[in-house]
Amino acid sequence: MPWTLRVPLLADEALSSWLAKAALRQGCDPLALTGAIWPGWRVWTRDIDRGIPDARLDPLVQVSGIPASDFEQAALRGVYEQISGHPLAENRSWPWLLALGTRNRVHHGGQQFCSLCLTQDITPYFRRAWRMAWHVGCPLHDVLLLDACPTCHAPIEPHRLVAEDKHIAQCARCKLDWRHVACTPISQDALRFQQLADEVLQRDHAVLGDKAISASEWFAVNAFLLGVIRRASRWPASELTFALQSLGISVTERLLPVTGLSFELLPVSERSAMLTTIQRMLDIGLDEMFEAFHRNEVMATALHDPRKSPPEVIRPMMVNGSPRQKTSRGDLQSGHQPKSERAVRAAWARLKRRMKTEMP
Ligand SMILES: [Zn+2]
Ligand SMILES: [Zn+2]
Repeated sequence: MPWTLRVPLLADEALSSWLAKAALRQGCDPLALTGAIWPGWRVWTRDIDRGIPDARLDPLVQVSGIPASDFEQAALRGVYEQISGHPLAENRSWPWLLALGTRNRVHHGGQQFCSLCLTQDITPYFRRAWRMAWHVGCPLHDVLLLDACPTCHAPIEPHRLVAEDKHIAQCARCKLDWRHVACTPISQDALRFQQLADEVLQRDHAVLGDKAISASEWFAVNAFLLGVIRRASRWPASELTFALQSLGISVTERLLPVTGLSFELLPVSERSAMLTTIQRMLDIGLDEMFEAFHRNEVMATALHDPRKSPPEVIRPMMVNGSPRQKTSRGDLQSGHQPKSERAVRAAWARLKRRMKTEMP
């Protein structure tokens, strides 16, 4: 039977947001609502923002009165297949999509919001873009997004709210109303990167130096650069770090990640610091950056995992411009020096993360 209270799906709204909002509007818990639409299907144990399988759309169309095509358009799958350049498997992590770290119905992260946007909404809702890993700030309000409750540090889990909560701009654990929390200014370089990435997706191509490349190749280049930053920040006394410093790029900033967690699992502050650094690299230009690598005798193995081939547009720079191949000096990075404080902190953070995931 169709709902008596219709809940429109907004053009930039995430599917999980709409489902949770629709439940509260009908006066029931999100879990109860989805249990009634799809008996026996545990929708919240998956990442529903990616998309609703075709076979599951019918009952939702019946109750909501919203055409199936609107749900298909709201799904993130299309954007992420454009980024990857190929179809994506449901049971794998998707590059550049924040990972929910789902264990049963509990999430460990993966959702962000701008509290000022929520304040302005007539009915607060979460945007699709807030799931994208390169989104770290709100361009309308110039603030860093929040990816956890500022009071109790719980992840953002609107599906765990209950009927009495009425709206989704609040913490499912401590009930803090997120429309009244303090905001942090955003790095303008990180915001520039975010907007550039959005434009590249919209146009489906990009220009790098004097080359036109596809959107998917552009994202691959930036994933490569993220790897370079991580390697440099892990080895602050390496040739790679000196080369970047010679270009005015600091890789010893406090906020750069010390864990080995993938970009899609990092907190917003660390992603923002990394995107700030990438934007500076893009401003300098890759040709100039690779020349600096060459001058500083940076080895190719210091830049990337040799088991994975670098993006096509990077390959000529690896051969001509610069990095020399591994020499008899061996890999400097695997030396038996005592571990730096940073390396110990990284190991500790990884251990904590693992304990959190393994705990029931
Ligand atoms: Zn905002
Ligand atoms: Zn809270």
